[in-house]
Amino acid sequence: MNPVFADLPTSVFEVMSRLAREHGAINLGQGFPDGPGPADVRERAAEALRDGFNQYPPMMGLPALRGAIAAHYARHQGLALDPDTEVMVTSGATEALAGALLALIEPGDEVVLFAPLYDAYLPLVRRAGGIPRIVTLSHPEFRLDADALAAAFGPRTRVVLLNNPLNPGATLFPDEDLALLAGFCRRFDAVAVCDEVWEHVIFDHARHRPLMALPGMRERTVKIGSAGKIFSLTGWKVGFVMAEARLMRVLAKAHQYITFTTPPNLQEAVAYGLAKDDAYFEDMRRGFARSRDRLGLGLAGLGFRVLPSRATYFLNIDIAGLGFADDVAFCEALVRCHGVAAIPVSAFYADSPARNLVRLCFAKDDATLDAALERMAGLARRAA
Ligand code: PMP
Ligand code: GLN
Repeated sequence: MNPVFADLPTSVFEVMSRLAREHGAINLGQGFPDGPGPADVRERAAEALRDGFNQYPPMMGLPALRGAIAAHYARHQGLALDPDTEVMVTSGATEALAGALLALIEPGDEVVLFAPLYDAYLPLVRRAGGIPRIVTLSHPEFRLDADALAAAFGPRTRVVLLNNPLNPGATLFPDEDLALLAGFCRRFDAVAVCDEVWEHVIFDHARHRPLMALPGMRERTVKIGSAGKIFSLTGWKVGFVMAEARLMRVLAKAHQYITFTTPPNLQEAVAYGLAKDDAYFEDMRRGFARSRDRLGLGLAGLGFRVLPSRATYFLNIDIAGLGFADDVAFCEALVRCHGVAAIPVSAFYADSPARNLVRLCFAKDDATLDAALERMAGLARRAA
């Protein structure tokens, strides 16, 4: 069996969700909202399932969805994408990532990654034969810096994989960091695979700037998005890939033999949803920001050190000094003894992890957040 997968543990998200079920805990671990998602988008999917065409859609995605994706990114991010040659629909961002890494990496190529890193990245890079060169970012800012990039990039660098906004950092990379990274990509002739699934889940009037929009990056960036995050429907697994036609031709070959297509009813509904007016996106952000503040202020009131959250469904707390061996010990105690599931941030590192950060998902209704806070009060007392 292939050792990359044979030696892997089960994903921390699955493990924590299982523990949450076993202990009847409130699940603030795995990132999914507990709301049902927008009714009109779901209705559209139901109609298409009932009355629509349910056979294989075109491999690259329904033309209506590819057109909607191009129009969406023109409107929200100023990108000019050709829906026929530069847009592809995948079964989630996860497939898009797997396909991009399989298509772009040749065995022995070096791939620059940033820790904390989303747990799918490293096994996919390794399975493609890539040699990871990991740059560790320091919390709470998680910024890029020139010396660290200079140490990671080299003549064998083929791909750099960036997650912006950053899960679990809950940060966005500022323009100057993106410009710095773009400079390295140009200098070393590397392709940037940019996982931007959290691009709409940003707060406090932040603006998301796609790496693809920076000078010299249009022809060397693979941009990845996910309808699951845009519409709070994480189980749908409708992803998108945007890249210049020369790259896209190769990415399409990977997609053709991974899933080939994505359920057509969901594609129709996502095409409809992407055209929603700005108010939808603003309301969504406002709602999540409210929940972020409810949980964040509540935790701070209990005595926890809460790191700022500017994006994603998550906030982090710093548990140093609370009397636990590390973040894993804290999360074990939290789920088993206090009935709240969270994610130890050390799971997002390959080595030398931060062991004092714990990620909590705030995309929940008020009653759930309040109940979690009540259960966590015991831990804060323990710290006092
Ligand atoms: N990348 C990141 C950074 C994520 O946080 C997630 C899921 N939360 C994904 C990719 C996977 O997206 P999808 O569910 O569309 O496969
Ligand atoms: N991306 C989600 C998170 O960060 C989980 C996705 C998964 O369960 N693989 O919580």
